[in-house]
Amino acid sequence: MRIFNTLSGLKDKATPRDGILKVLICGPTVYDFSHLGHARILLFYDLVARYLMLNGMRIIAILNITDIDPKISARAKEERSSVADISNRFINELLIDIQSLGINTLSIARTSDYVETSRKLILGLLSEKRGYFANGNVYLDTSSLDSYGKLSRLSRQDLVNRRVDIAPGKKTPSDILLWNGSDDFGQKYYDSSLGDGIPWWHMQDSSVAMSIFNGIYDIHGGATELVYPHHESILAQLRTLTSNQQPVQIWNHVGLVSINGKKMSKSFGNIIRIRDLLRKYGSNIIRLYLFSKHYREPLVYSQSELDKFYSTDETIASALWKNADSKNLYRRTRLTNEFTSYLEDDVDTSAALELLIETARKREYIADLRYMVRIFGLVY
Ligand SMILES: [Zn+2]
Repeated sequence: MRIFNTLSGLKDKATPRDGILKVLICGPTVYDFSHLGHARILLFYDLVARYLMLNGMRIIAILNITDIDPKISARAKEERSSVADISNRFINELLIDIQSLGINTLSIARTSDYVETSRKLILGLLSEKRGYFANGNVYLDTSSLDSYGKLSRLSRQDLVNRRVDIAPGKKTPSDILLWNGSDDFGQKYYDSSLGDGIPWWHMQDSSVAMSIFNGIYDIHGGATELVYPHHESILAQLRTLTSNQQPVQIWNHVGLVSINGKKMSKSFGNIIRIRDLLRKYGSNIIRLYLFSKHYREPLVYSQSELDKFYSTDETIASALWKNADSKNLYRRTRLTNEFTSYLEDDVDTSAALELLIETARKREYIADLRYMVRIFGLVY
């Protein structure tokens, strides 16, 4: 399978470097229910993993859940609850959504389980003089990182102009915050050398990657809005930590879901919860709807578009159940090859779905249809 690599700008082959394809996916930050934008990412990588597994590839796909974040602390404060209560609650809700969507290819990691790793890695960077203290925080010195900015196609000057995580004592505005000790997040970890603080967002991901994959893996996936600064920073950290210039082969990104011209996000108050959609439509229709658009294109949510897939779902169901004596009940034809050729070319679910629907309408090629339905994770 070839899949688009934001770093190379090409469709690169998803091939395991050491026998098992290792995938890390940026999952939600758990301070609220998950929404359709999250479902798009979860279902996309579920499809990729299932397709590759059914084709005999060994694969480990980790969904990384951020459960250390100021947004979680803010919600805890609002509800007079603890950070642990909020994150536990919404991780449980996310797991219910994942199960209800029929996703069974992804393993879960939560970043708070990797704080110990973060501490050790940051202490190592400090002792190698790759990291430095400023005002109670620890930063990664980016001055000697040649390829910093390559993923997001930003020049050195662009990076400086972005001025992320600005604080007194920072050597260069583009240096990457590793350990945040400056604010009260209601969630602190103690280290005698680092002081109170929390491993900062990008470092949380790098710690999971270092702990599970030794920092070397095949695909890092997530929403397209994460390219900068999140993925650029993770790449810089992993390059420094592993001394490997290409710790991750493919950086892959899924387009945003928007509604009424705005990104679907809790902060805009325009989210459509996975939970509510499942109640009304069920997982088949959500899958059909999301897969009808190529994953790299932005998806503008439309309820009337979603409603159209009720009848698609029925067409598929009736083709499967009312054609018990079809001559192609067990033998697959060239339709399967055509279907897989679409997926092999940067996971073109849109073209694959058109073929699936056409095959269901013909009510003849049932073995092919069953295979397509299985890859799409549809249940009848
Ligand atoms: Zn992440």
